[in-house]
Amino acid sequence: MCGIIGYVGTKQALPILLEGLKRLEYRGYDSAGVALVGDDAIRITKSAGRISVLEQILKHDDQAVTGIAHTRWATHGAPNDINAHPHTDQSGRFAVVHNGIIENHYTLRTYLQNEGVTFKSDTDTEVLGQLIALLYDGDLEETVRKALHEVRGTYGIAVVCRDEPGVIVAAKRGSPLLVGIGKGEYIVASDASAILAHTSQVVYLEDDEMVCVSANGIRTTTLEDIPVTKKIQEIEWTLDQIELGGHEHFMIKEIHEQGAALKTCMRGRIDPEKGTIHLGGIADVARELTRAKRIILTACGTAWHAGLVGEYLMEELARIPCEVEYASEFRYRNPIIEDGTVVIAISQSGETADTLAALEEAKQRGALALGVVNVVGSSIARTTDAGIYLHVGPEIGVASTKAFSGQVVVLSMLACYLGRRRHMSQPGAEQFLTALERIPEQVTTILEQNDACRKVAETYVDRDNWLYLGRGYQYPVALEGALKLKEISYIHAEGLPAAEMKHGPIALITDDMPVVFIATRGSQYEKIISNIEEVRSRGGRVIAIATEGDHHISQLAESVIYIPDTLEPLQPILTVIPLQLIAYHAALLRGCNVDKPRNLAKSVTVE
Ligand code: GLU
Repeated sequence: MCGIIGYVGTKQALPILLEGLKRLEYRGYDSAGVALVGDDAIRITKSAGRISVLEQILKHDDQAVTGIAHTRWATHGAPNDINAHPHTDQSGRFAVVHNGIIENHYTLRTYLQNEGVTFKSDTDTEVLGQLIALLYDGDLEETVRKALHEVRGTYGIAVVCRDEPGVIVAAKRGSPLLVGIGKGEYIVASDASAILAHTSQVVYLEDDEMVCVSANGIRTTTLEDIPVTKKIQEIEWTLDQIELGGHEHFMIKEIHEQGAALKTCMRGRIDPEKGTIHLGGIADVARELTRAKRIILTACGTAWHAGLVGEYLMEELARIPCEVEYASEFRYRNPIIEDGTVVIAISQSGETADTLAALEEAKQRGALALGVVNVVGSSIARTTDAGIYLHVGPEIGVASTKAFSGQVVVLSMLACYLGRRRHMSQPGAEQFLTALERIPEQVTTILEQNDACRKVAETYVDRDNWLYLGRGYQYPVALEGALKLKEISYIHAEGLPAAEMKHGPIALITDDMPVVFIATRGSQYEKIISNIEEVRSRGGRVIAIATEGDHHISQLAESVIYIPDTLEPLQPILTVIPLQLIAYHAALLRGCNVDKPRNLAKSVTVE
């Protein structure tokens, strides 16, 4: 979950490391640190708190040209100064930054302690530095390889040694790692955003690969020391896409980008006039996919909510039995994968540890493995048999917004694609795609209601419990609205299928409880109106997301946000927008850090 960056070259390393850390901060932000390799010592500065705290205590004139740095999301040990990375061995000869979890750290720690090693921190990571020091034989690359053979768990690591200045050894298993290739300089990082300011040429490491980086070049091998020739790839994102560009927060920038992002997501893929869809990433598996007997969508968090919308879409449009599984549950069950099962992993980062593992499990059992991923070249993208990229641009805000709407758009296109190949008529597809094509401009008109959304937030922000209710396609949106609110404003919120309210949660309703109804016109409109009445008669404070022109609802709800009309299966892409805005404003009003919410990190690479 953390961010790793390492620099080898001829320039002063510190500013490059610091700038990279700032770009990586969204991945983890409880503490941070830097190790600079001088001629005769490794100089470590680290601190609990944000990178701005580290920045204040760093010696900015350090001229070292090699270094590694880290922004942490603690898994083992409190987020304090001592547990911050880099970690060293007891002599300070080696320094390590690590993303992931060393599962057998306790055994290794006991072994090392029996060898006379004294530990400083509570982290799992420290065993790596200590073990490397114990095994060191004058060759850092070889020693790291040996040490990693003793390790169970997940890691992206970068290691430096005082005796080999100008060298970084990095390796990966289960956590992302790449090397940016510059002119006479190399940057190891866990995420492309950290290197974009310097180069767009990149080499992605695979699991169980290592790289030895020096100013002379990079050498990639497997953990078994078999040389690997890597392809240099081009990062398609640009620097301004990962910058605030005048916005106060990444979250609001990304909410506002949704119209344009969804347009890019659809570009070249849909032809409403002919009722056709082109999805190049799945062309090779189109036959197998069309004959699917069952689809399992697997994901975590917001992507799981997108998956729930996907389930409704697949069943209605493609008429393929479909279910949605939390990746963390699916991977450890004994899932039944029959002939004709297609498993689709949904993940913005493409690095979500549980989703990746679920996909691997399904693949091993013979499923056709697909991915719906935003980050090109990410681990999930590389593991799948085929897939569809979101193309919504980088998402930096920890709370997902444009990735959710992008995921629903991709799943809509996929469901229509499969439907058209199975039973859907051409006019049916034309109608669906015409509505889909209008979505980006409709999203943009909803954003004009920012003030109305802020007003809702202002009115109810002091309430500590909210309910979000929806039916059918709006039920996943209710879950997503509640998640958005709780993750960034820390207000407790629960999302439910509206009819479930009667089976327990209705007991919570008092005249103090805001209840957000997603009550757009559609097949269950009258039912949800009845649910609104039920809440009203118990004094609940009703906020409605409704279809433009629905004046009746304004008599039932205290606040109404209107969205333009569209086909029912596409409504989630529109109804989620006001919920994102309400959550954003509530968080601001409560003084929360919307882009870096407490305890969260962007790319969840631990299980
Ligand atoms: N497990 C390590 C720790 O707790 C690394 C966590 C991370 O990925 O930031 O320090």
